[in-house]
Amino acid sequence: MSERTRQVREGLAAVRERIARACGDAGRDPADVRLIVVTKTWPADDVRRLADLGVTDVAENRDQEAAPKVASCADLPLTWHFVGQLQRNKAGSVARYADVVQSVDRASLVAALDRGAQRAGRRLGALVQVRLDGDPGRGGCDPADVGTLGETIAAADRLDLLGLMAVAPLGQDPAAAFARLAGIRTGLRERFPTATWLSAGMSGDLEQAVAAGATHVRVGSAVLGGRPDVR
Ligand SMILES: *Cc1c(COP(=O)(O)O)cnc(C)c1O
Repeated sequence: MSERTRQVREGLAAVRERIARACGDAGRDPADVRLIVVTKTWPADDVRRLADLGVTDVAENRDQEAAPKVASCADLPLTWHFVGQLQRNKAGSVARYADVVQSVDRASLVAALDRGAQRAGRRLGALVQVRLDGDPGRGGCDPADVGTLGETIAAADRLDLLGLMAVAPLGQDPAAAFARLAGIRTGLRERFPTATWLSAGMSGDLEQAVAAGATHVRVGSAVLGGRPDVR
């Protein structure tokens, strides 16, 4: 086994252990929390290692990097998530390979993704990304607009509204932010009972996310190591 394979295996085991412990503390079944490994900045070889180790879900945040990586891993049984801020002119490309776009934060993007999925002959899962701090530069829609954006996604021919995604605001208590997100999800589910996903929690705050009811955690550095360019 290569040194890198050993490293990835250990990182993955440690994260699975953290998820299991957080579930134990929260009285939740670990089978109800899916680990998505964020592979941005890491090569396709690492994606292959992860698939060999039983990872089923991976995520990328830039189309330029993701498109060739997904293509070179086409033989692997993986679900690909797109979690980055998305320009409308990249939506057609992302619609060709992403299974779930977690960063849908405005109606113009819904239309572009729907057209892209139509052209590619595919359906896409979609999450509304919610902004939990006041900073519009970091992506996500205002909590007050979640319902309207949810309606727009649900009305799109080729998109399936699955739930919500958020990143905890820098320098704030993640537990409070995730509790707020869970409350927003409760409201969304009253209108859309199938919008069950709560994608929250990263390397630094997955425990708080699991405690708040996260169904999906997105973990990069705790599995794969520190990225050279933190973004
Ligand atoms: C990079 C990234 C993650 C993973 O972050 P880590 O701190 O490396 O676990 C999760 N979600 C999004 C949206 C990201 O861009």
